[in-house]
Amino acid sequence: MARPSPLEIYALLDKSNCEECGRSTCMAFGTDLLERKVTVQDCTHLMQDPKQAKKRNKLITLVIPPQRSVEIGVGDRKCIIGGEEILNRHQLTYYNETAIFMEIADDDPDLEEVVKYLTTLILERMGDVLRVNGITLRCVSGDADQYKLAAKKLTEASNLPVMLACMNPDILLAAATEVKELKPLLYAATKDSWEQVGKFAVENNLPVVAVSSDLDELMSLSATLQKLGVKDIILDAMTVFGPGNVALTYDNIMRLRISAIDKGDVNSGFPVMGVPAAYWSQINTDDDKKLWEHQYQEIIMAAIMESIDTSLIVLHSGKRKEDIWALLAIMTLRQSVFSDPRIYPTTDPGIFEIGEPGKMAPIFVTSNYRLTKIPVEIDIKGANVDAWLLVVDSEGIGIESAVAGGQFSAGSIAEAVKEFGAFDKVDHRILIIPGMAARLSGALEDEADAYVVVGPRDSSGIGKYMTELWKPEEFMKTYEDLKE
Ligand code: SF4
Repeated sequence: MARPSPLEIYALLDKSNCEECGRSTCMAFGTDLLERKVTVQDCTHLMQDPKQAKKRNKLITLVIPPQRSVEIGVGDRKCIIGGEEILNRHQLTYYNETAIFMEIADDDPDLEEVVKYLTTLILERMGDVLRVNGITLRCVSGDADQYKLAAKKLTEASNLPVMLACMNPDILLAAATEVKELKPLLYAATKDSWEQVGKFAVENNLPVVAVSSDLDELMSLSATLQKLGVKDIILDAMTVFGPGNVALTYDNIMRLRISAIDKGDVNSGFPVMGVPAAYWSQINTDDDKKLWEHQYQEIIMAAIMESIDTSLIVLHSGKRKEDIWALLAIMTLRQSVFSDPRIYPTTDPGIFEIGEPGKMAPIFVTSNYRLTKIPVEIDIKGANVDAWLLVVDSEGIGIESAVAGGQFSAGSIAEAVKEFGAFDKVDHRILIIPGMAARLSGALEDEADAYVVVGPRDSSGIGKYMTELWKPEEFMKTYEDLKE
């Protein structure tokens, strides 16, 4: 489906440029609306002037993405899934990353401990904080009281959004009644339970997962739930394993996304989920090696789903500390898939103190490409070196390309030295530039009035470099001799 243009949006705005939305013009507001930095509700004129109601409604319809977004949970950790406009990331960008929900059984004796661990789990990578997004409470006891109790314990121990997963609608809704103010996701409405679950969802304004392995039946379920008044639907065409089934699972997810995004079909225009954790329902073994292989199978399926922008996945592996590798893999991949391809990953330029640098501490120079600056910083800290890190504005481009393109040049480094007062921090005039920028050394000595030494090509070599080659007194002597 074609994306609306800023001009189409502008045509429906007030055009008074009153600035009440915090934008200097209505055109700027229209551009930000397209980028989802503001909502229609932020324009006071459209919202308050009854004469503009028609235009307002037209605009709201115009900016609804072909795949609607759905909110799960409340408060700081609520998550938004779906809402995508494109099939492939390079066409524009994805707006909402795959939500990772970790499943736990209602009879798990460690339920509270596991839930607390997942709630506070934070992984930091390249300046981003990576976290799980929710908990799926799976009903294995088949007992309404136990499931209800587990739902209460879970929500008391965590503020993460919750998916209540139970195929028995009576048990599901009994637990949902206890925690409905936390806006849990109801799993599931099937061809047998859609009416009971759907009515409860409408009464309580809750999101619902429609489930069927038959896509025609799934579309019919989606249409019926919408007719009933359910606004927030998530589609699950079911996750199956075994020879040929990975392709089937992949195809079903893609068919739903294509139908929504490219064809504008209203019944498939909702977030799509997958359940790699379903693999474990087929496993019955205590053999450690086999269990380990199964974890791999599950994580491979999760990776496939993330790479095709599945809106939400449910994982079994990774919920305990010893299985952190599973989440590391999935979160790292997610971070890459869901970065905005239109924006260079940059950090602020400046001079940064690492450890407790003394007056003869080294000054390392690097670019402000995020995936360069952060690893360099980590490697300096890892080598236990007290130093200054001078980050030059290379427009977010990595060293090798920025040297070739002129963004990381003798001139830009000399400017940064001056702007951030690098030599005011130390009693020397030595700069260590990356090995990949060696050819700048001569020009930089002149432009920055410095003694320039070439460091390792890769920052992992900084520790060795400092032990074997860092001789500041000798360098300064040479610098002074050359000056005479
Ligand atoms: S509040 Fe509305 S009318 Fe005023 S500048 Fe923003 S978009 Fe235009």
